Amino acid sequence: MMNRLRLKAPRGVDILEHKQMSRSARRLAAIILGVVLAASGFRALIRARTYQVFGVLVDRVNTREPVVALTFDDGPNTTTIDGILQVLAESNVRATFFVIGNELETHPEAGRRLVAAGHELGNHSYSHRRMVFTSPAAAQVEIERTDALIRTVGQSGAVVFRPPYGVKFVGLPWYLRQNGRTSVTWDIEPESFSEVA
Ligand SMILES: [Zn+2]
Repeated sequence: MMNRLRLKAPRGVDILEHKQMSRSARRLAAIILGVVLAASGFRALIRARTYQVFGVLVDRVNTREPVVALTFDDGPNTTTIDGILQVLAESNVRATFFVIGNELETHPEAGRRLVAAGHELGNHSYSHRRMVFTSPAAAQVEIERTDALIRTVGQSGAVVFRPPYGVKFVGLPWYLRQNGRTSVTWDIEPESFSEVA
């Protein structure tokens, strides 16, 4: 009788411990799953091209006309500008160039050529850093500094803004909304047609 009890007791303990570990493992798995889902949701939110937390974002304009709004990012690029301006002129096409402030500061003449050719300059921040956790005050510096440079090369009127890498969270959209600024993203990119490249 004593032997049977001794034999059964450790087994009971073993089973109990196993169950506790299993419950802990399930709880841990649920926590990991929650963290992963939250992280992927956050990633989707900051990368969304059709939505930002505050203010106006345009990713496409509905029209019956067979047209596209052509945009270029990260310039002005003195290496490619001659070829791009030539092709656009030959086709009588106007485009929007989302320029980086510090690039425009370095190459103002390239910016002047774009404006003189009838193209629009958009604001793509001064430093082109990811502006996910940027405060409204820091966003102001990035945006206003670049706006001033855009004005000096001859553009007038409203200046649209495109977030570097298309990412934003709270501080940047807040500043944009408070200042009546429009974010412009995109819905087609060269990688959308990989079979053509
Ligand atoms: Zn960019």
